[in-house]
Amino acid sequence: ATALDGKVALVTGGSRGIGAAVALRLAEDGADVALTYQGSTELAEEVVAKITAMGRTGWAVRADSADPGAVRGAVAAVVERFGRLDILVNNAGVGAVGPIEAVGLDEIDRVLTVNVRAPYLYAQAAVEHLAEGGRIVSIGSCIAQRVAFGGSTLYATSKAALIGFTKGMARELGPRGVTVNLVHPGPIDTDMNPGDGDSADFQRGFTALGRYGTAAEVADAVSYLVGESARYVTGAELAVDGGFAV
Ligand code: NDP
Repeated sequence: ATALDGKVALVTGGSRGIGAAVALRLAEDGADVALTYQGSTELAEEVVAKITAMGRTGWAVRADSADPGAVRGAVAAVVERFGRLDILVNNAGVGAVGPIEAVGLDEIDRVLTVNVRAPYLYAQAAVEHLAEGGRIVSIGSCIAQRVAFGGSTLYATSKAALIGFTKGMARELGPRGVTVNLVHPGPIDTDMNPGDGDSADFQRGFTALGRYGTAAEVADAVSYLVGESARYVTGAELAVDGGFAV
C-alpha cells in the first residue's frame, strides 16, 4: 500500500505544467486523481492515460475556472464519480505582466477571477466533502513573497491573496482536521514560463541556486503537504523557489 491509497484528489489545471506533474505524483503516491483543464483535451487525456498505467483511476473534467457553474459542477461530478474527495489542489492559474498603467480592466478581472476567485469557489464546493485528514493545497508564487522586478503587480496581487485565503481556511477547517497550505514555486520551466524564454536568464539570476526548477520539484512539495507526514502543518507557506525570495 502507498501513502494515498484509497484517497481521491482533484487537481485544477492538470493538463500541463505543474498541475500535470502534481496529478501524476499523487497517483504515484496511490491516489485516484481527477484533473480539470480549460482547452487541452488531448493533453489532459494523456495525463489520464499515464495515471491509468500506474493502476489508478484518472479522470479529466473540462471546466473553465472563470466559470463559477463549471467550478461547482466539476466538484460535484468528481464526488459523484468517485464517491468522495480528500485532496484539493488549486493549481490552475494565469500569468500577467505589464506596467500598472497598462493593465486594463478586463485583464484585472481575468487574473483575479482565475487566480483568486476560482480557488475560493473550489474550496467552498469541496469543503462539505472533506473529512478528517482532508487537504487543500494551493499554488501561489514566489512573487507573493518577493516582488523582485516591476511589471508584476497584478500577478503579485493575485498570488498574495492566496496567503490570506490559506490562513483563513486553515483557521476555519482546523477543527475538522483538514489542513490548508500554500506552495510558492519559483521560476519553473513550463509553457507559462519556459526555461529558454526571453526573460529566463533574468529570472534565474534572482534565485540562490541559479537555475529554473522543474514541475516535478513542485509536485514533491505538494506530495509532502497532502501526505500523512504533514498532518501538523497548516496555514503554511512553503517556498519551492530555488531561493528566489531569500
Ligand atoms: P501552464 O500555463 O503551463 O499550465 C496551466 C494549466 O492551468 C493548464 O493545465 C491549463 O489548462 C490550466 N488552466 C489555465 N487557465 C485555466 C482556466 N481558466 N480553467 C481551467 N484550467 C485552466 O502553467 P504552470 O504549470 O506554469 O503554472 C501552474 C500554476 O503555478 C499557476 O497557478 C501559476 O501561476 C503557478 N506558478 C507558475 C510558475 C512558473 O514559473 N511556471 C511560478 C510560480 C507560480 P489548459 O491546458 O486546458 O489550458
